[in-house]
Amino acid sequence: MANLASSAPWLLPGLLALLLLRWIIELVLDRLNERAALAHAGEVPAPFRDLVDAATYEKSVRYTLARSQFGQLESTYTSGLLVVVLLTGLLPATFHRAIDLLGHSSASIALIVVALPLLLSFTRLPFDWAAQFRIEERFGFNTTTPRTWWLDHCKGICLSLLLGYPLVWLVTSLPAVAGPAWWVYAWLTFLGFQLLLMFVAPVVILPWFNRFTPLPQGSLRERLERLARQTRFHHHDILVMDGSRRSRHSNAFFTGIGRYRRIVLYDTLVSQFSNDELEAILAHEIGHYRLGHVPRMLAASALTSFALFFLFGKLADQPWFLAAFGFSATGIGPLLLLTLVFGGALSFWLSPLANWRSRRFEHQADRFAAQAVGSSQPLVKALRKLTERNLANLTPHPAYSWFHYSHPTLWEREQALRTSLPAPVNAGEISDTRAGK
Ligand SMILES: [Zn+2]
Repeated sequence: MANLASSAPWLLPGLLALLLLRWIIELVLDRLNERAALAHAGEVPAPFRDLVDAATYEKSVRYTLARSQFGQLESTYTSGLLVVVLLTGLLPATFHRAIDLLGHSSASIALIVVALPLLLSFTRLPFDWAAQFRIEERFGFNTTTPRTWWLDHCKGICLSLLLGYPLVWLVTSLPAVAGPAWWVYAWLTFLGFQLLLMFVAPVVILPWFNRFTPLPQGSLRERLERLARQTRFHHHDILVMDGSRRSRHSNAFFTGIGRYRRIVLYDTLVSQFSNDELEAILAHEIGHYRLGHVPRMLAASALTSFALFFLFGKLADQPWFLAAFGFSATGIGPLLLLTLVFGGALSFWLSPLANWRSRRFEHQADRFAAQAVGSSQPLVKALRKLTERNLANLTPHPAYSWFHYSHPTLWEREQALRTSLPAPVNAGEISDTRAGK
């Protein structure tokens, strides 16, 4: 094993360096963001004076700082844990021990591959708890009870096992039966699973966590149905989700594909927003669909997973690679285990790219929404309200938002709507709201 490891002595230090570099970059970005928040903390910055009052602004700065400091603690813990796991050889030791006990079948390998990362994730539970019952609670967002919180986590674990185990079992079974191109079949299996989830999630999984009720008949429903017809958005139903059971944050989304597609509005959104604003929010969501953002995101994710499975195909029978991490066994099992535990250290570097693309999509959907409802004003009002109610950070550091934000800032969205829309959709509206009218 020592000889094999020496054939790629750079692999383990390389991964260690990636983990440490990720931790440092996260910390630096958080510090920059805190300094930007503190630099503007004295009074509400001029562009936002008609958006938030001094007390709300002060609260949003405190919320930003609290979450940032908590985030640093969490990322320090996560990085430390991964470094310990890497340096102690915990994964190969546990893997081999479990194989000796359970046998070399695909079924037992899959069980280890699914269970070990899950067990490691349990050590993060105190952080999840503190985020909900300390930070969110302190700023008035938490409505979750400890009972619901525990139930949610138990259901999450059940889902990981119910969905993850059969998938991993299939993938680990393929090399023995599918020949040299097994990784292509493994990739197709993975894609099939993803597609199946899109059908199953809204019907089976989401109702396990939340209650969904059809939006009652009335002027709002009529209006949203009309918008869906006008924008040729085919859907199964418009539903209201009891998001207020867990949090006062609000949101809207659509889920499922084909005839299973549903529009979902949080009850917190329906109760706080005007019909105009809700229509604009829905138009934005429909924009994502009409502009083909969903298939484009799926295609990008399929390409990424293709690259990953291609690598699996190349590396699964390479003892030098797995031995560098302490595995004496070869095969897809140890590779999957390494990916599930350390994959984040690699995907972290791709997240600015994914976020950059996501922000472009957001701007496009905003533009679509303004055109669909004939004015950018309701969307701007809705975005301002969402920003204010969610205590969003109004002055993020540009490097922080560039790296981490999947949505453009309120300021960027307003600017983009103002400059990119033809006059009738835009004229005077945003400057009017900006002047406080
Ligand atoms: Zn969006």
